[in-house]
Amino acid sequence: MSGKADPRPAGEGTTSRTRLDRGRGALGPALELVHTGRAPTRAVLTAELGVTRATAGAVAAELEALGLIRVDARPTAAAGSQGRPSHRLAVAEDGPVVLAAQVHADGFRAALVGLGGRIVATAPGCETVDADPAKVLSSVVEAGADLLRTTGRRCVGAGLAVPSAVAEPDGLALNPLHLAWPAGAPVRRIFDECVRAAGITGPAFAANDVNLAALAEHRHGAGRGARDLLCVATGHRGVGGALVLDGRLHTGSSGLALEVGHLTVNPEGRPCHCGSRGCLDVEADPLAFLTAAGLAPGPELSLLQQANDLVRHHYDDPAVRTAAEALIDRLGLGLAGLVNILNPDRIILGGLHRTLLDADPARLRAVVADRSLWGQSGGVPILACTLDHNSLVGAAELAWQPVLDDPLGALSRG
Ligand SMILES: [Zn+2]
Repeated sequence: MSGKADPRPAGEGTTSRTRLDRGRGALGPALELVHTGRAPTRAVLTAELGVTRATAGAVAAELEALGLIRVDARPTAAAGSQGRPSHRLAVAEDGPVVLAAQVHADGFRAALVGLGGRIVATAPGCETVDADPAKVLSSVVEAGADLLRTTGRRCVGAGLAVPSAVAEPDGLALNPLHLAWPAGAPVRRIFDECVRAAGITGPAFAANDVNLAALAEHRHGAGRGARDLLCVATGHRGVGGALVLDGRLHTGSSGLALEVGHLTVNPEGRPCHCGSRGCLDVEADPLAFLTAAGLAPGPELSLLQQANDLVRHHYDDPAVRTAAEALIDRLGLGLAGLVNILNPDRIILGGLHRTLLDADPARLRAVVADRSLWGQSGGVPILACTLDHNSLVGAAELAWQPVLDDPLGALSRG
């Protein structure tokens, strides 16, 4: 950004267009500030971007002309506030959307998501996941295309969340262990083909569901403001992890970092599908919990929902409590190891782990503090994820990224 170097006084011999030429590099950062709620007014935007008021005004006007944000030019000052009220900024409620899709062990779902992480419309979730990824992805994209037809919204891209590590640069689902999909399925290419076949324009992306949940929470939820954010979650089966560093996902050299599900937390524990034994994946997911509580899970509800219901409504039952405490201790042991290695400034937990944290926050925090070097000195905040459908919102973030990077370029390509 070079906005600070705007030497001329506002309005003096400059048109809004030439101001914008100088401020074009600020369009993306400005949109990201409004998108993440960090620039609720034009005054804050001006300060955050470090540009003149005139440049910030031209940037906001251009984003409004692109249909991305709304500038309220006649704001009412808050009661008791001093000085001139600033124009209010918000994402445009009727602006473009992206198609977000999620596949997990218990089904799949499509949604349209606007800027600001707002879910505009969702299709009813479907409950069986076919062994052929092309069939599943074509159904989920078709459901999204139906939503686009019904709402008449402009779509600028598509993102997919899958319960597997996604290897880059080819977008292969390496270990869809809890789906019947073949290992190494080229999910990004298949998703892209389905998106094109449905007549949807804009780029298509795919990534791991917990990575995407972490990204969404960092921008819109419990991870806001964290610099080194660690997210650990049980989706419907297994355990995943993600790290967001300075606002960007840390994905490693080929997209496979933070495979935290295969940390050993019980050396004598159950055999894991990875070939090891006692991994977090098989010791701290909903199935492990239901089994430990002596329940044979039925097919009528997802494992995650059955496990959540048990913790929320039957925590007084000794068998439930013992099983929950065992899971909390194993999860805490895994988190302690991660705290020592990664030194996060915040940990957020999703899925059943979030429910266990709510049930007994003191126990989990004590295990992490006792078993980690850095946990003892002050402790790392451990919080619950706050967004509904954070993997879906994260899939949308992936699709929004080209627009956030270069709003003018991305929208003129669409
Ligand atoms: Zn394992």
